[in-house]
Amino acid sequence: MDPAKVRAALKELGLPAWRWDQIRRAAYDQAVSSYEEISVLPAAARAALEEKAPFWSLTERRVEVSPDGRARKALLVLRDGKVVESVLLRPSPTRWTTCISTQVGCAIGCTFCATGLMSLTRNLTPEEIADQVLFWRGYMRREGLEGRLDNVVYMGMGEPFACYEQTAESLRLLTDQKGLAIGARHVSVSTSGIAPKIVQFGRDFPQINLALSLHAATDELRTRLVPLNKAYPLAKLAEALKEYLALTNRKVFFEYVLLKGENDRPQDAEALVRWLRGIGRPALLHVNLIVFNQTDTPHRPTDEADARRFQALVMDAGFKATVRQNLGRDVEGACGQLVVLEKAA
Ligand code: SF4
Repeated sequence: MDPAKVRAALKELGLPAWRWDQIRRAAYDQAVSSYEEISVLPAAARAALEEKAPFWSLTERRVEVSPDGRARKALLVLRDGKVVESVLLRPSPTRWTTCISTQVGCAIGCTFCATGLMSLTRNLTPEEIADQVLFWRGYMRREGLEGRLDNVVYMGMGEPFACYEQTAESLRLLTDQKGLAIGARHVSVSTSGIAPKIVQFGRDFPQINLALSLHAATDELRTRLVPLNKAYPLAKLAEALKEYLALTNRKVFFEYVLLKGENDRPQDAEALVRWLRGIGRPALLHVNLIVFNQTDTPHRPTDEADARRFQALVMDAGFKATVRQNLGRDVEGACGQLVVLEKAA
C-alpha cells in the first residue's frame, strides 16, 4: 500500500480525504488484507480504489511452514509477475520478526548465498518492500497467530544499500507513527559493505540498527567470499564504520557465516579481533556468528565445536559474540538461503 497513491485515488474518485483515515486504520491497526474487508467504505469505492491504487503490491503464491511453526517462508508475486521470498520467524512465544527482501535477485554474488547465485533482475519499490510487513500482519490475523510482529530485518533477497533510495523510503513507511508504526530500534538493515552508504545511513537513520555482513577479516579471503570487498576493502569499511559510530553512537552488528575450514579457524578469529580493535569500543561491536546453512554452493557448514571455539576467541578479546539460532532452516528461510527457484506464470 502506497499512502500517497491511495490519497490521490480518493481525490480522483471524488471521495472525501477523511476516507484515508478509515483505510489507514483498517490496514495498519486491524491488518485487513483488502479494501473489500473495509465495510465502512461504500461498495463501489472499494472496487474503484483497488483499480486505481491496489491494496497490496504483491500477492501470496504459497507459504511454507516449519514443523514447529516457528518459521514460515512466503513466495510473493509482484504485479509484474516477478517473485520474491519473505520470511516470518517467531524467536519467542509472543514475538515475531520478519526478514524482508529489497531486490529480485542480487548483483553482489556472495559465494555462500543462494540469492547470490541469481543475478539482479530489479529493485523492489518502497511499497513492495514495506508491503511484505503488511502481508505478514494480514497472514498472522488470518491464521490466528498470537503475538505481535514488531521486528523487521532487511536480510532477505538483495543488498538494501544498492537500492538506497527505495530502502530509505520503505523505512519511512515502516516507522511512520500513522502507518505501520514499527519502532526504529526494532528495525535492522544489513549491508554487505557499501561504505559510503553506511555513513549516509548513519546520518539519515541514526535510530535504526546497522548490520554488516562481514564473513572474513582479511581482504584476500573476504574478496573471495564477498566480491564487493574489491570495491570497498576492509580499511575503507573500517573508516566508514568509525564515521558511523561517531554519528550515531549505536551498536553495530557483524554477521559472520562460519564456513568449515575457510573462515572458522583460530587465525580467522584473531584477524577478526584485530580488525574490530581498529574500529571502536568493544561495547559497540557485536559479532553474530551464523552456522552456515547448506545451499547449492561448494561451502560446508562449520561444526558446533568450531563455532564455540571461534566465539570464545572473540569474547576473550572483549567483544560480544553470539552463535545465531537458525530458526528458518526448516523452510530454507535462514540467512543466505532465500532464492526463488520457481518463475511466476
Ligand atoms: S548475502 Fe546478501 S548481498 Fe550477498 S549475494 Fe546474498 S543477498 Fe546479495
